[in-house]
Amino acid sequence: MHAFAGLIRAVPDFPRSGVLFRDITPLLADPRGFAGCIAALAAPWREAGVQAVCGIEARGFIFGAALAQALGAGFVPLRKPGKLPPPVLAVDYQLEYGSDRLEARSDALKPGERVLLVDDVLATGGTLAAAQALISRFGAELAGASVVIELEALCGRGRWSGGQPLHALLRY
Ligand code: IMP
Repeated sequence: MHAFAGLIRAVPDFPRSGVLFRDITPLLADPRGFAGCIAALAAPWREAGVQAVCGIEARGFIFGAALAQALGAGFVPLRKPGKLPPPVLAVDYQLEYGSDRLEARSDALKPGERVLLVDDVLATGGTLAAAQALISRFGAELAGASVVIELEALCGRGRWSGGQPLHALLRY
């Protein structure tokens, strides 16, 4: 277990009854813990030729931007609908109740560019699968993905297709 694991707070019944929410804000507030987390995220990718790190709104921006700097790569935000000026490429995906959409600027990635996907939490896997689909629409080459936390009981890893590495620092 990584030393920074103790900086993640488990909050019962948030945002609704029955959900155990993993709050990463105490980790962000701890300089050594946050630096250790970014170093651990970067470790498997240092020789992977990553050219762009795509972070998923909103907490994926925090880890993704720091990781992009650590890897000497650019950062590309994958955003919720209506936040980016047109033109954008978009992918719709299903949530437990309703649907959502991820968007990126239509020239954000080049064909063949090596891309690393980053988010804070892998839960059911729908968000990461949508991000994967969006990256493939650019013709970019997905190197893989990293998340800080994987909630194993929700089996999100099963929706990760293509065989590229999917790394999780902490598993609950
Ligand atoms: P999924 O699509 O079900 O895998 O959900 C992943 C998305 O939901 C990520 O973008 C997370 O930021 C968010 N998420 C799900 N559960 C948690 C949690 O316990 N803490 C923080 N974010 C969560």
